[in-house]
Amino acid sequence: MDQKIPYKIYLEESELPRAWYNVRADMKVKPAPLLHPGTGKPMTAAELEGVFCRELVRQELDEDTAYVEIPQEIRDFYKMYRPSPLVRAYCLEEKLQTPAKIYYKFEGNNTSGSHKLNSAIAQAYYAKQQGLKGVTTETGAGQWGTALSMACAYLGLDCQVYMVKCSYEQKPFRREVMRTYGAKVTPSPSDTTSVGRKILSEFPGTTGSLGCAISEAVEAAGGQEGYRYVLGSVLNQVLLHQSVIGLETKAALDKYGIRPDVIIGCAGGGSNLGGLIAPFMGEKLRGEADYRIVAVEPASCPSFTRGRFAYDFCDTGMVCPLAKMYTLGSSFIPSANHAGGLRFHGMSSTLSQLYHDGLMEAVSVDQTKVFEAAEYFARVEGILPAPESSHAIRAAIDEAVACKEAGRGETIVFGLTGTGYFDMVAYEKFHDGQMTDYVPTDEELAASFARLPKVPE
Ligand SMILES: *Cc1c(COP(=O)(O)O)cnc(C)c1O
Repeated sequence: MDQKIPYKIYLEESELPRAWYNVRADMKVKPAPLLHPGTGKPMTAAELEGVFCRELVRQELDEDTAYVEIPQEIRDFYKMYRPSPLVRAYCLEEKLQTPAKIYYKFEGNNTSGSHKLNSAIAQAYYAKQQGLKGVTTETGAGQWGTALSMACAYLGLDCQVYMVKCSYEQKPFRREVMRTYGAKVTPSPSDTTSVGRKILSEFPGTTGSLGCAISEAVEAAGGQEGYRYVLGSVLNQVLLHQSVIGLETKAALDKYGIRPDVIIGCAGGGSNLGGLIAPFMGEKLRGEADYRIVAVEPASCPSFTRGRFAYDFCDTGMVCPLAKMYTLGSSFIPSANHAGGLRFHGMSSTLSQLYHDGLMEAVSVDQTKVFEAAEYFARVEGILPAPESSHAIRAAIDEAVACKEAGRGETIVFGLTGTGYFDMVAYEKFHDGQMTDYVPTDEELAASFARLPKVPE
């Protein structure tokens, strides 16, 4: 039986999904609404349209429509790098001597090196449709900024990226790729915005955080005619676009009648995981099937496993709407670990609600253990994974080893979100034995929780 399943399950171009799937449509308890930071009332579409593109606001607020048609232009762009392969990790199974069957959905087959392009092209498309001149955004590790630069270059939009300073300094080639695609890249916090100047005076020498960069990008969009702000994760609209990952995964598995037992993904803001699990979670919510779903996060930024489920700011400057999510507090600045894409203090409100309702699990893993798994995987499966993705690899290997010990032949699917070619400084630190496993103390977290906004229930 196994013999018939190829190393790579490819879908035909014609099998590329025609619609994204909105998991909120099947949730009995919907994620809590975004609140206005000033009034504490739910954000209206009109208010959100001051910051985001019109159609994206519509998608953000729509919790009833299950399937949203993917515009033809976006599907055509997707065809340059999709459908992405679902790989049966035969070599890894063999090496681990596990009875588990391991599959991974590989999203690193494009220049951005990650799944981020799936939403970047959608967001740029709607900005263009609205007649905007350009967009502003933040980037942590650089994948989102790269993806957005690519999408903007394709559609002829201006792209301004605020890049978290430690990442800007550690990954000069990332910055150069973005400039190749015509983006303007500014290290954050910067003195080009008032919120950046305020953060710099409060925390001199800070290496920045996603929360700071978001504040700066939002301010920059507001200050320029014909610009809006776009975000690469966390928001419902991003999870919607990323559902293309899960829909393809499910279609590929269905071709061979494979039913996963466990689905694993790394979680930063939750977009790749939300996308990967979307159709499976839909089945679970409708009572049609059951799956174990596991989010993997860094022990240095453990939103799910040690955070509070509360309303919080999405940014450090406290200019963005409040979201109800698992959060470490918007004043929490994680240590300068190497999984830049997982350093956000909060988590998608949709995934937060699902986690709160017991529909998924979460684990946190130490950085050196993640790099051990990354290196092992690179040697066995050939692909040099991104540090973010390697969190999922770590958990998948641990699960496969547990299967071996228990003699359990379950089917594991995990998301391999991207490649790590721009993360060689991190790999170097690991190889030189200089990598640390910084884990925040309870006191540090308590200090940050104490600054959570007071929102009446
Ligand atoms: C951004 C990123 C992540 C984490 O972001 P999510 O929104 O949680 O998916 C994971 N892997 C890679 C390669 C990334 O670029």
